[in-house]
Amino acid sequence: MTDLLVRGGTVVTAAGSSRADVAVDGGTISAVEPDLGALAATARDVVDATGLLVLPGAIDVHTHTRVASDAEPDRFFQDSVAAAFGGTTTFLSFNNPGTGGSAAAGRSLLGGMREWRAATASDSAVDIALSLVITSAQDDPIDELPAAIALGVPTFKAFMVYDFGVDDATLSRALEVAGRHGGMLEVHCEDRSALEERTARYLAAGETAPRFHASSRPPFVEADATARAIGLAREARAPLYVVHLSCAEALAHVRAARAEGLPVHAETCPHYLTLTDERYELPPEDAARYVISPPLRGPGQPEALWDGLAAGDLALVATDHVPDRVAVEKRSWRESFDRISNGGPGIETLLSLVYSEGVVQGRIELERMVDLVAGTPARLFGLRTKGAIEPGLDADLVLFDPAARRTLRAVDLHHTSDYTPYEGRVVEGAVRSTIVRGAFVVRDGAFVGRRGHGRFVERSLDPAG
Ligand code: MN
Ligand code: MN
Repeated sequence: MTDLLVRGGTVVTAAGSSRADVAVDGGTISAVEPDLGALAATARDVVDATGLLVLPGAIDVHTHTRVASDAEPDRFFQDSVAAAFGGTTTFLSFNNPGTGGSAAAGRSLLGGMREWRAATASDSAVDIALSLVITSAQDDPIDELPAAIALGVPTFKAFMVYDFGVDDATLSRALEVAGRHGGMLEVHCEDRSALEERTARYLAAGETAPRFHASSRPPFVEADATARAIGLAREARAPLYVVHLSCAEALAHVRAARAEGLPVHAETCPHYLTLTDERYELPPEDAARYVISPPLRGPGQPEALWDGLAAGDLALVATDHVPDRVAVEKRSWRESFDRISNGGPGIETLLSLVYSEGVVQGRIELERMVDLVAGTPARLFGLRTKGAIEPGLDADLVLFDPAARRTLRAVDLHHTSDYTPYEGRVVEGAVRSTIVRGAFVVRDGAFVGRRGHGRFVERSLDPAG
């Protein structure tokens, strides 16, 4: 007997779109055919998807969700609910400082992994995975890389900036050892000396408002660091994943590396595709909402990034979700820009923004969107059972209404932040239902999921990249 039959929708894959029925058994897609009507009489649940797009669930490979704490026991679960409402069926978290790990676990890569897994084991509504952060506070993270990869965590992030960032020597070794053992290093590319020098100069001049955060890290600060990371990866003969690429200047380095045949991959984020640095002209309290790194860029930059996505120079779109709140983590805007927590929420708005601004505006094809938010994330990050609508894969599905139109408002979102960078933006299309391994998590716009339904996904990268 079939568990679930999704009938009459337009099934979208990276290869094409067609009207088809999808049958699900035991959490797995069992058939995708033009007409599976013969199964309808005996299926446990039949869903009419007429007029809807049936999409593979989005996979958000870049989030900074926070694990539950005594004071905020629901914060991880609640962001997983937000993911589901946004059509994201799997998200990857980083365990960087500030996401709730203990100081003791912060000394060791494997300790951090064990603690994060324990803290989130029964807490998510959708599937989850982890990328471990390599920091300067760890005793010997490089030595622990092979074991982490063997335990299903093959992706790691290192920062070239921040107090927990690492030096170039560590970056080189991390690239080389991760690559040799079937892992991949993700790098936050900004040039530390350039931006620390500028930060000091602005502060000394009394220019402390949030907008000087952006002035202190112009595009070349990111682009120079991106070029350096590529150079280190070339030397190490290792794959490199550039996180949150924000500007044409950095994109040019990625494009050149890829033309050379190097395994260099880069993501961009919805905010760089849809917002510009005019937001920093807002009153300081509002401008603080857009204090992120890299910062929002100037006019013309979003189009350069859309072109990069369409051309394949950029691999995918991920959110860089940080559940900061204006009233809490962002409140230090009054002191000076360098004291403001970097980041903003986005876990719930990925699909809406890429569909509305990308597909509806004619910048990318619908099939390319599915590739950018599901197919490529699954492939690059080693989620072997996810990322497409094909028999044998997990039944992670989104029923998406392309005819809907709505206005994004923080009060309607479910994340643990108290604002959205997209307040008041009208978007075309809306997630109606989200299914994770055959079970509805959101159905017709209502949460019907279960805390703990989400599983930790152990990953292994495809050596072919
Ligand atoms: Mn970063
Ligand atoms: Mn990030």
